[in-house]
Amino acid sequence: MNDSSYIGRFAPTPSGYLHFGSLVAALASWLDARAVGGRWLLRMEDIDPPREAPGARDAILQTLERYGLEWDGEVVYQSQRHDAYAEVVERLFRQGLAYACTCSRKQLEGYAGIYPGFCRDAGHAREGAAIRLRVPELTYAFVDRVQGRFEQHLGREVGDFVIQRRDGLYAYQLAVVLDDAWQGVTDIVRGADLLDNTPRQLYLQELLGLHQPRYLHVPLIVQPDGHKLGKSYRSAPLPCEQATPLLLRALRALGQATDPALEGARPAQVLEAARERWCSQAIPNRRTVPEAQLS
Ligand code: GLU
Ligand code: ZN
Repeated sequence: MNDSSYIGRFAPTPSGYLHFGSLVAALASWLDARAVGGRWLLRMEDIDPPREAPGARDAILQTLERYGLEWDGEVVYQSQRHDAYAEVVERLFRQGLAYACTCSRKQLEGYAGIYPGFCRDAGHAREGAAIRLRVPELTYAFVDRVQGRFEQHLGREVGDFVIQRRDGLYAYQLAVVLDDAWQGVTDIVRGADLLDNTPRQLYLQELLGLHQPRYLHVPLIVQPDGHKLGKSYRSAPLPCEQATPLLLRALRALGQATDPALEGARPAQVLEAARERWCSQAIPNRRTVPEAQLS
């Protein structure tokens, strides 16, 4: 199959180095794009400088290169996109679709992360406040290519969510939706930890009149105790000299057949063989896969 209109992307957050779980997501996204002759873009989601690990941005790019995961065009940095985010927040605020929230963390304790709506009709000024998007009392659903149908009631399960923080930083939900649309992304392939963020993103797309991409959420690789790899759990960065065995392991995590003859091959050869036989239907339709179960 050839679909040159396919545009995929990998969008790492430089709060840490790439770990095995991010490799699985990056590889799936790359293969899904390249198998149909599509483009694959790279976007650095560096919108939260306080959470950034020094050197992580460059280390991520270097690891992707060493593993043969080549991207098209220039890397987009979200830190360069503030004007676009600001304009949309301003518009949503003026239209009354978003509002200023002055609640302290303390006031929101005990609500299990679902905003109770204290500031909804308070008419606070924007200055020094967080901006929240009003969500409708509706269920948003989509059919994921691997996970199947997923639905979430935004009012009951999420509540009005932050699009700009009190410190002025923009929220992931807003930035990801605007940038995927701006870059013309047709297919989002990422980890299943983001499955339950997707309905918020669908709502934003609807509100802003943006095209809805297709979604494919790959199983998250977890520690034996169920913790996600990396980030706060601090797994080691991916070693460059292990590219071939780790790519083969990532392929097995994605349910893809691998040829033992490739064990001594270069990363580019492993990728080329995987691209030719890529079968997204073989990806396990599970939210998580324990790392220990991988051969
Ligand atoms: N930047 C997000 C992360 O690293 C992923 C964003 C996305 O793929 O939508 O967790
Ligand atoms: Zn509030």
